[in-house]
Amino acid sequence: MLNLVLFGPPGSGKGTQSEKLITKYQLVHFSTGDILRGEINAGSQLGKEAKSFMEKGELVPDSVVIGMIAQKVDQNLNAKGFIFDGFPRTVAQAEALDKMLKERSIGISGMLSLEVAHDELVKRLLNRGLSSGRADDKDENVIENRIKVYNKETAPVADFYNKQNKFHGIKGVGEIDEIFNRLVSAIDTLA
Ligand code: ADP
Repeated sequence: MLNLVLFGPPGSGKGTQSEKLITKYQLVHFSTGDILRGEINAGSQLGKEAKSFMEKGELVPDSVVIGMIAQKVDQNLNAKGFIFDGFPRTVAQAEALDKMLKERSIGISGMLSLEVAHDELVKRLLNRGLSSGRADDKDENVIENRIKVYNKETAPVADFYNKQNKFHGIKGVGEIDEIFNRLVSAIDTLA
């Protein structure tokens, strides 16, 4: 299996690049943000729990997202591989993911980290907010909080994978296809 963690701050292009990667490598895509928004739209109990965190740009509790991902993995054990997008977002989530995959005799092939500077992120997210319908993309304070939470809670996850020699930094600015080619070059060096 080819199991990728697509990593990077809000607005770094994970969703855009995931779409292209799933087509090329025929992977199953798990975006915790998309799954959570689906739960909110469906009015589920889980969605109700997640909503207040997401509106403020805070992280949803680890236990919620870990359970959600385990269920999705179990529904797709025959896949060629997975792309985890927006997950793991804390070191506790990364540890839980490793453990959960190990119990199923699978593992992460590599982490690809899209690197984009702060001001470019804010610009992209405000621009996305004009059409995405996402409340968390409309308010600059919420955007700044998401980036702050990323730097504090999520950035350490890179080190977690670096220690396993699985970290690959990718320049996330330029043309979409150019960035995609950088990702493909890194992926093609993996097992
Ligand atoms: P972005 O990367 O642009 O912030 P996402 O769709 O990945 O967009 O996430 C939107 C929101 O969903 C986050 O701000 C957070 O509240 C919640 N969320 C998504 N993934 C996770 C996760 N793995 N752990 C905790 N909260 C999450």
